[in-house]
Amino acid sequence: MECMFACSRRVGRGGFDKSAIFVRSAGGMEHGFVIVVCRACENPPCAKVCPTDALREREGGGVILDEDKCIGCGNCAEACIMGAIFWDDEKNKPIVCKYCGNCTNYCVHDVISLVEAEAGA
Ligand code: SF4
Ligand code: SF4
Repeated sequence: MECMFACSRRVGRGGFDKSAIFVRSAGGMEHGFVIVVCRACENPPCAKVCPTDALREREGGGVILDEDKCIGCGNCAEACIMGAIFWDDEKNKPIVCKYCGNCTNYCVHDVISLVEAEAGA
């Protein structure tokens, strides 16, 4: 959960309501936890359904959000194959991972890391 707090802090917020990474139970303590975060897809489906080009493909995978172009339709969140687009209720806009890797510095169990994706992987 430290990763979620770290991600929210990127915009100066405590708590984790601005986090672009989420840790959820996999269905009871015996099953552990699942980390939900953008996997930086090639040809990202979230960008394909954006009607305003507010989400554009990022070199190396994933997407970059231009909030000024976003109309808050929610198409991207529905299209994300990982369920990794979260929602900013205050702005009525998606919360999209920025691939900064800050969360990895706070994982006390060294579960997550940021790696360069190989083309075609
Ligand atoms: S919520 Fe914004 S970024 Fe997402 S599909 Fe709609 S306009 Fe594009
Ligand atoms: S937000 Fe979802 S669909 Fe878009 S690049 Fe990340 S994992 Fe893929």
